[in-house]
Amino acid sequence: MNNTIGVYIHIPFCMTKCPYCDFNSIALSNVPDEDYINAVLREMAFLVKERPDLMHKRIETIYIGGGTPSLIYPPNIKRLINGIRERFISSEGQEITIEVNPGTVSQVRLSQYREAGINRLSIGAQSFSEKGLKSIGRIHSVKEALSCIEYARKAGFDNLGIDLIFGTPGQALAEWDSDLTTVISMRPEHISVYSLTIEQDTLFYNLMAEGKLLIPHEDDVIAMYELAIDRLESSGYNHYEISNFSLKGLESRHNSRYWLGMEYIGFGAGAHSYFSTPDWGIRWWNERDPYRYMQNIKDSGQAVAGRERLTMEEALSEGLFLGLRKMKGIDMERFKKRFNTELPDYWMKKIKVFKTEGFLEDKDNHLRLTRKGILISNELITDLMLV
Ligand code: SF4
Repeated sequence: MNNTIGVYIHIPFCMTKCPYCDFNSIALSNVPDEDYINAVLREMAFLVKERPDLMHKRIETIYIGGGTPSLIYPPNIKRLINGIRERFISSEGQEITIEVNPGTVSQVRLSQYREAGINRLSIGAQSFSEKGLKSIGRIHSVKEALSCIEYARKAGFDNLGIDLIFGTPGQALAEWDSDLTTVISMRPEHISVYSLTIEQDTLFYNLMAEGKLLIPHEDDVIAMYELAIDRLESSGYNHYEISNFSLKGLESRHNSRYWLGMEYIGFGAGAHSYFSTPDWGIRWWNERDPYRYMQNIKDSGQAVAGRERLTMEEALSEGLFLGLRKMKGIDMERFKKRFNTELPDYWMKKIKVFKTEGFLEDKDNHLRLTRKGILISNELITDLMLV
């Protein structure tokens, strides 16, 4: 059995709330970063006491996500990383990522993050056009995004991920093409491309309902995605997951753990954890509200809001859902070995139909999406999950 684990730390604070965002984050001008990191460290200490078996796991990856983790003062990030290292065994060559909003960093801050032990940045550039950034309410400018990449390199980061969003209000294919040209010219080790989705309980959702938000037609969004695949692949990036591309060997190791169904522990407001067990695994998640989270930790050392044991059916469905997100697909031998069974009939029938229609295929003993399937992967995977 694999004896490694990934650690996720959630930082639920942002400077303002972006109009499309449904992540667990609140807008604050004064982030209580010291108190919050204290709470996370206390939660960690409590869990280690409750689950001493965790001490034997090697931490392979640490991912500090949000929200806007780059609002956290570097000495607190250092305390956080040292706190993890004191409580757990670190793997050799550990990947330690922090998400960075270009509107919140300076050369000094990035150098201090590097000194604190961070070795990978995930930069939320989102667009390299002022019009594009404005259309999605980002706080930073193109100049700040470009400077952030420059600062990162100067600070010694040799593993950068850049996130971009396409299908934004009023965006034309040529504008997206220009974003791709810019990102390719920066040569980051990793590039993520996400299509804008309109989530419930966001400002964009309300504007859309009132007919006040004009986003590109579905066919145009598919054309943008296809353009991204073609341009990034022909520039040497390996398309390894629906939204993710990397230079050789530089995939996100932390996120790959999720797609492979490997164990992770989450600390912080709303963070989720997953542990494998002799049956189908156990999941738990924390209180979402940052202030209630901190209060719960203060009162009892933990802030678990719910937990569940997975049934075999849920574990199978999750394995299918996550496995198909990887371009390599699902290793069917490994899948059968893990579940000691074939896929149930209702999935076999659907898979057969999708194969006939050219959306799925078998390749090297893996079940995977075809190019045609990748372009409509969300609809396809959702349909497959409906039983
Ligand atoms: S910066 Fe990120 S987490 Fe914060 S509101 Fe914007 S999209 Fe959401």
